Amino acid sequence: MVTCRFAPSPTGFLHVGGARTALFNFLFAQKEKGKFLLRIEDTDRERSKPEFEKEIQDSLNWLGFSWHGTVLRQSERISVYQKYAAGLLSKDLAYEEKKEGKTAVLFRIPKREIRFRDNLRGDVSFNTEVFEDLVIIKSDGFPTYHWACVVDDEEMEITHVIRGEDHLTNTPKQILLIEAMGWRVPSYTHLPLILGQDGAPLSKRHAAVSVTQYQKDGFLPEGLVNYLALLGWGPEGNKEFFRMPELIQEFSLKRLIRSGARFDLEKLRWVNSQHVRSLDEKSYLEKAYTYLKTESLISPTFPKESFDRIALLFRSRIATFKDLIQEASYCFKEVETYDLEAMNRSLGTPGLREKLVDLRGVFEALPNFEDVVKLEGLLRDMATGRGVEARALIHPIRLALTGKGMSPGLFELMRVLGKDVCLRRLDRLIEKL
Ligand code: GLU
Repeated sequence: MVTCRFAPSPTGFLHVGGARTALFNFLFAQKEKGKFLLRIEDTDRERSKPEFEKEIQDSLNWLGFSWHGTVLRQSERISVYQKYAAGLLSKDLAYEEKKEGKTAVLFRIPKREIRFRDNLRGDVSFNTEVFEDLVIIKSDGFPTYHWACVVDDEEMEITHVIRGEDHLTNTPKQILLIEAMGWRVPSYTHLPLILGQDGAPLSKRHAAVSVTQYQKDGFLPEGLVNYLALLGWGPEGNKEFFRMPELIQEFSLKRLIRSGARFDLEKLRWVNSQHVRSLDEKSYLEKAYTYLKTESLISPTFPKESFDRIALLFRSRIATFKDLIQEASYCFKEVETYDLEAMNRSLGTPGLREKLVDLRGVFEALPNFEDVVKLEGLLRDMATGRGVEARALIHPIRLALTGKGMSPGLFELMRVLGKDVCLRRLDRLIEKL
């Protein structure tokens, strides 16, 4: 049975590179109807922190990568690593070295050429003569990364190791350990690094790197997952929109891309916007509202009904939920300033003030602003009656309501903002004219 693992070290949050590694392991295991396991490599006692482990697990859960069974935590298995090390010692394949009263265990590196097959690179060979003997148990009794990794891959019955390219040079050392123990060598796939737009390894300089940050920035997990899948994996055809079941269906290690993939925030935003649009209305509204409340971007007392109207009106204009606040800012708070350019473009009609006053009177006579067709009809009649084009009235009203030169359709917007708010904002502009 195919068994994969994701083995993060809890020395930091889950970054997008780690998330992509986890994703490919998860997809491959699902596709092969195998298992995906989670192992926490917390043997670096100085740098490992429970907060990081929690954040990593939360991020994995948010992304939807559920793992099989319980989490294996290396710090809880120290005696297991020591037991196997004793086996190597007894066969003289390892030796002890004492320093200042403490004892470390070192593995004798057999000097030879070692070959293995990497699913992306084909045959890889290393000459182990350049390697020094390998510490497997440190003087504090804790295993080193290599040793714990090899022991656990065996005990967890890992068949496929899919990990970052930065581990490629670790693989020959691990194979030597596996062979010394007489264990099975798994299949290896080393994923190319994720790069920034300039070709340097992705870092904070290029874009946010933690999964948590994308969650905070209002991305959908399915959007991020879809984008990460495209980063280093090429589906057949040119389809780019994938939900998890389709990713599982189409995933294949054979279609991994060998060259480093460049992280493109704009592309991620585009992919996310496609997922935002594809949600059914109810879950879109629920997710957007929950997000804005969780991130305190909207007052907890903001009426849900108004929110729903705003969110639906702006859905096709946003890439992330956070964009709602930006794009629809004037729906959540008062208009404080007018865009200068929009003012210059929209306030030049002669006698504008008097026309707006009349139009305001007509609008005020309506019981409410629910009837969008009616609102438009009234404005157009007024324009015709005064011999101006409709846009000579539409643009100033848009400016009054939004402070900007662009917005969703004006009459829809008037309905969403409601009669009171619209009249108040119109009054303010009239006052200024
Ligand atoms: N703990 C290692 C890392 O976070 C994982 C190594 C592996 O997958 O073997 O890079």
